[in-house]
Amino acid sequence: MGTDEAGVTGVRLASVVGEPTLELEAAGVFVAIGHRPNVAFLGGQLELTENGFIKRTVPFRTDTSVAGVFAAGDVADERYRQAVVAAASGACAALDAERFLLATEN
Ligand SMILES: Cc1cc2nc3c(=O)[nH]c(=O)nc-3n(C[C@H](O)[C@H](O)[C@H](O)COP(=O)(O)OP(=O)(O)OC[C@H]3O[C@@H](n4cnc5c(N)ncnc54)[C@H](O)[C@@H]3O)c2cc1C
Repeated sequence: MGTDEAGVTGVRLASVVGEPTLELEAAGVFVAIGHRPNVAFLGGQLELTENGFIKRTVPFRTDTSVAGVFAAGDVADERYRQAVVAAASGACAALDAERFLLATEN
């Protein structure tokens, strides 16, 4: 909430568990997004962790529950979720995919 003149003056919080709407005074807002892994597009084809992230099935690698499918980035990272970690895991997934293809090549 706020005005052009005053800027942010408060926030109105809507409960997702049925509690009454709450208004708090605030002079600023930090919008935190990205806390829920975006996995709906998978349609249940990959195993997930109990918190809804793509489950990696081999320690320190990007393998998933489906052979030949590799997971990188925040969607498979419950712990760090930082840009440099996501980028590095993308490189790992590419290498894992290359090795998978070489090993299965006829
Ligand atoms: C508010 C905020 C602040 C942050 N600050 C920092 C920071 O200071 N330092 C830091 O290192 N990290 C920070 N992060 C974390 C960083 O943004 C992430 O770790 C990083 O972006 C993860 O990269 P990613 O490629 O895994 O996912 P994303 O960057 O989320 O990229 C996933 C992409 O996939 C696309 N996508 C989703 N579904 C589909 C689909 N079905 N088909 C095609 N495309 C699809 C999305 O549109 C998106 O472009 C911050 C994150 C947030 C939310």
